[in-house]
Amino acid sequence: MADSLKSIYVQMPQGISTHTFLRGEDALQGLPALLQENFPGRTPWIVADENTWKAAGAAAYQLLQNAGMNPAEPHIYPGTPRLHPDYALAEKLAEEMPANTVPVAIGSGVINDMVKCVGGINHVTYCCVATACSVDGYTAAGAAMTVNGTKKTVPCPAPYAICADTSILATAPADMFASGYADLLAKVPAGGDWILADAMGEDPIRKDVWELIQGPLKDQVSDCTNMLKIFTGLASTGYAMQMMKDSRPASGAEHLFSHVWEMEGLQLNGEDISHGFKVGVGTLASTLLLEYITNHKLHDLAPRMKPVPTVEEREKEVDTLLIRGCYGTAPKETAMKKFRSGEAGEKRRKEIMEKWDSIGAAVKAQILTSDQIRTALKTANCPAVPAEIGLDQEQFIHGILTAQLIRNRYTSLDFLYEMGLLDDAVAYVATHMEG
Ligand SMILES: [Zn+2]
Repeated sequence: MADSLKSIYVQMPQGISTHTFLRGEDALQGLPALLQENFPGRTPWIVADENTWKAAGAAAYQLLQNAGMNPAEPHIYPGTPRLHPDYALAEKLAEEMPANTVPVAIGSGVINDMVKCVGGINHVTYCCVATACSVDGYTAAGAAMTVNGTKKTVPCPAPYAICADTSILATAPADMFASGYADLLAKVPAGGDWILADAMGEDPIRKDVWELIQGPLKDQVSDCTNMLKIFTGLASTGYAMQMMKDSRPASGAEHLFSHVWEMEGLQLNGEDISHGFKVGVGTLASTLLLEYITNHKLHDLAPRMKPVPTVEEREKEVDTLLIRGCYGTAPKETAMKKFRSGEAGEKRRKEIMEKWDSIGAAVKAQILTSDQIRTALKTANCPAVPAEIGLDQEQFIHGILTAQLIRNRYTSLDFLYEMGLLDDAVAYVATHMEG
């Protein structure tokens, strides 16, 4: 069918549920045939917001009409304020889905996550038409949603088919592209966190998944103007998450920070901060945490270690960190579940001490330095310091500490907490953010 198109079908890795990926400068023209082949007998139902409707939705609708596919009445959300990825909204959208249709998400960010949830709720496959390379998760299973106030990855299948028209991607606002770059750069320290988790027996590295993201990553992030490389990198991240059935390959401490700031409703001049920009600042902070580990000899840090707290002490710490009350009920439970007290805590600390040097060496070989990350962010016109995304020093530090509580994902935060060094490391981060 793509004979007359310049676009190509991208080869998909084995073991994922995304079946078709049409990419190129005229990919949208191939949308009617792509839908007919992948979703036979179902009428297209476009879901967009006013921005993505303008970027690609209206044109897609026209193409489908011209092809005689009789698309259902599109669902178009307002362009402003920015749509929040609220699960309750996705449930409503699922109810509104017309019978026997194939949802076509016009957008690779929140719209895609919403439609992905609809697919999960209604047990239907769907198609994503990408409009910007702004996030990593559009090709992944699972949607990053707010569920009853807590940021979660809601399990739901990845898009079955994806249409990425590079001429549309090229017209996306520059800050969306910069956000996508920051989200890809995040995979560098996220890899460092995975190395830590692997070494501590928490989350073994799967080699094929690791290679898929980390293999080409340093090359992909070396040029922040190369849209195709960045788009490809972000897409691979989604496949890797599909293969793992988990976001571990793509997300470490830097994503946890961004989730905390999102739950706190972080804004600058009345506007939400994009996922990628929060993650970008988090990427620098996470890199500094990892550098704290790689650049210090344990011997020098020993006097700064806090003793292993008692359960009561830990509970008090957690309650104090969660005092804003905007994180839902899950974090306290998560934090207490992973907390090791008494003998178990001491044993863990001893294990880390034994591995400190070897882990440090492996992490050092993985990460870019904080200077390199800072330069990369600035070159790509991404915020690099907390103030640029509306964070004062207090909220920034608080976010780093709180990030350790919200997920059962082992990162440098847990590693350092278990050593009694997290407060010292966070002070180090705060003083080194600006270089
Ligand atoms: Zn991300």
